[in-house]
Amino acid sequence: MKFHTEYLQFYTDKHRAYVHITPQVEAAVVKSGIKEGMVLVSAMHITSGVYVNDNEDGLIHDIDEWLEKLAPFRKEYKHHETGEDNGDSHLKALLIHHEVILPVTNGKLDLGTWQRVFYAEFDGQRNKRVIVKVMGE
Ligand code: ZN
Repeated sequence: MKFHTEYLQFYTDKHRAYVHITPQVEAAVVKSGIKEGMVLVSAMHITSGVYVNDNEDGLIHDIDEWLEKLAPFRKEYKHHETGEDNGDSHLKALLIHHEVILPVTNGKLDLGTWQRVFYAEFDGQRNKRVIVKVMGE
């Protein structure tokens, strides 16, 4: 089995952001030379995540509102007793999950028609990374 590893770098302008990264994942798959296998795309942080869904602005707005409703910003989190203020960012990351694994077929990322890969940032304006690890033959 062969492995190919890349790191994507992020520094978002906003505190919360949803970054379309399908082209970068596709490029890593092509560069790997792997024809059959899978690719792991995983946020290397506890306040960001990776998810697969539609690249449609209205939906992205709805996802952001939904996350804010389920895990709202507020001052009273226990986590803030440590001096931090990002309790909601941790909870939002748990809801989205930190990684996805995707199929590679015939040397290409084998996604469904509307499936796109996103990096979800919940505590931005700082340096963040995502690992892309292609595995297969
Ligand atoms: Zn924290």
